[in-house]
Amino acid sequence: MVDLKSQYQHIKEDIDAGIQEVIDSAAFVKGKKVAEFQEHLASYLGVKHVICVGNGTDALQIALMALGLKPGDEVITPTFTFIATAEVVALLGLTPVVVDVDWETMNISIDSIRRSITPRTKAIVPVHLFGQCANMEGIMEIAREYNLKVVEDACQAIGAEYSFADGRTAKAGCIGDIGCTSFFPSKNLGCYGDGGALFTNDDALAARISAIANHGMVERYHHDLIGVNSRLDSLQAAVLDAKLKHLDEYTSARRGAAAYYDKAFAGNENLLIPGHEPHSTHVYHQYTLRVIGWDRDALKDKLAQHGVPAMVYYPVPLHLQKAYHDPRYKEGDFPVAERLVKCVLSLPMHTELDEEQLEYICRTVKGEW
Ligand SMILES: *Cc1c(COP(=O)(O)O)cnc(C)c1O
Repeated sequence: MVDLKSQYQHIKEDIDAGIQEVIDSAAFVKGKKVAEFQEHLASYLGVKHVICVGNGTDALQIALMALGLKPGDEVITPTFTFIATAEVVALLGLTPVVVDVDWETMNISIDSIRRSITPRTKAIVPVHLFGQCANMEGIMEIAREYNLKVVEDACQAIGAEYSFADGRTAKAGCIGDIGCTSFFPSKNLGCYGDGGALFTNDDALAARISAIANHGMVERYHHDLIGVNSRLDSLQAAVLDAKLKHLDEYTSARRGAAAYYDKAFAGNENLLIPGHEPHSTHVYHQYTLRVIGWDRDALKDKLAQHGVPAMVYYPVPLHLQKAYHDPRYKEGDFPVAERLVKCVLSLPMHTELDEEQLEYICRTVKGEW
């Protein structure tokens, strides 16, 4: 699904030098490399503050803590996503309220959000699924109307750009109150271990986030808030700083592969190519087909037999996960998500796909071998 070995070979010198520099400095935690990377990423994204933490899940948790949400507060999030979003909501004693998604973009549905708002709703956590922004214009409008906080889960969409009706543009994660991302190795900007970050334009929130990520400490050994211990180490920052320079090039490579797939599968009555959110660019964290004519699982097995990996992201919606069983929800409540989990299939998507590989993958999907 990804080829991190070949990617490393192309930037080996830069990565190795960055890592060596950290080892020579012996500043493994809270070293200057992390501060440098935060500055570079903030300037790339056009956001005031980037605060790095241990992983993307921590970023989401810290975001909700920084917003001062209280047990019982309702947080709206899509039912078709990775589990982390609902997990941190539940861990903090907040109430996850799941909503359906859009069939074309697979992102959170605005109508579904509107229908789910109650007097206890305090925040929305949209997920920019598979690499394109959710409808942020619609989400920010609802947030203003009901005075809700917005935490963007941009773990899959770093670098995607959203255009508002008034002509303003902003990068994924830099629109709501706080944006979160993950640097898990297979993410679009991945390190060589775990990592994550929060983005915000709000100075006071940035200060709270930094404190919470560091045991709630504002002044050394003075703890004003209950916090956690979550930090990016300097070795990972060195890797990320080297890779950030190539992020646009990596995104172009992903878009090239996606365009190849689109062309190969357009008009095929058994497959639907990914739909586009009209106001967002796509950075293709995943290239996800909807298999409508064929049996999805049989196609996946057939691909595996011919050496083509394919994955089902995600096979079970949140409201049907055992740990999140909630009498408010039952099968049939979110028909789009329930249909998607049965038909989605993600193809190999990374920065090193060449034409020969793409051709082989497409021919195999179409049964031409
Ligand atoms: C990867 C991911 C996360 C979690 O990131 P980790 O760094 O693995 O904790 C959260 N949300 C989404 C949508 C993700 O893809």
